[in-house]
Amino acid sequence: MEKKESDAVKRIREQLESYNKSDKSYAKHDPSIYFNTLLKDGEESATKTVRILPGEDGNFFQTVYLHKMQMGKQWPKFHCLKHNFDTNCPFCEANQEYYSKGDKENKELAKKYNSFPAYVLKVIDRDNEDDGVKFWRFSHDFTNKGILNKIQAIMESKGDITDPKEGRDLTINIVRDQNHNPIINSIIQDDKSPLTDDKDKAILWLGDKRTFVDVYKTRDYEYLEIIVKTGLLPVWDKEKEGYRARTENDGPVGFNNNQAKAKEEDSSSSTNGEVDGNKADDLPF
Ligand SMILES: [Zn+2]
Repeated sequence: MEKKESDAVKRIREQLESYNKSDKSYAKHDPSIYFNTLLKDGEESATKTVRILPGEDGNFFQTVYLHKMQMGKQWPKFHCLKHNFDTNCPFCEANQEYYSKGDKENKELAKKYNSFPAYVLKVIDRDNEDDGVKFWRFSHDFTNKGILNKIQAIMESKGDITDPKEGRDLTINIVRDQNHNPIINSIIQDDKSPLTDDKDKAILWLGDKRTFVDVYKTRDYEYLEIIVKTGLLPVWDKEKEGYRARTENDGPVGFNNNQAKAKEEDSSSSTNGEVDGNKADDLPF
């Protein structure tokens, strides 16, 4: 006998299906799906509260490999094609090429094309629950004092804080460092609490199957090759129906206005490893 689906279950199922389907298109993404720990202009500190969602495989974060390239004050990031997708990557090729020359100068140059790990967590931003699931991306901290280290330390002492019934929210305190860059001062666990009392929300949030691939743009080989060769973002060529290298006629800026507005600071000049985790990692480049 066919089991009859209740209206409520049907509604949730349909909602979930459209949720997982519609957001697959990168073009439809709006900024509200990215969580960040930046501060607004004039803001000296802020507190944000998030609930980390459990991962499907028991891992609450995904590791993603990125490249970055300085463009003026901006450091846009790109998915490494080799380490994420096991295919040819222009950044990694440039890295290899310089490194294989063997001398100190070229080895130093090679670093510019290194890939580095970052982490992607799915969170509910308690101040903006209506936005639904948000993606929080931050870079690995090689001093082991980064955001992930802090969260893992809490997990070790308090158990699985991502548990939907008995997990915990996290309070993130953000301040500015001596260079005026936002940094995470502390991450503190709240008392145990359910993810939500709303069953519909729980099903929707926990049923979100998106991964970093769905929400952060992956550029192809040709696009990345132009960046490696020119150090600038490519421009769209209508006639060619493809990307090409920027010329003088395209103007001096490698970013569109929205991108330029986003704050991104140079982490390498900072002594605090956490800055890297606070930069505009939410930008979907
Ligand atoms: Zn690469």
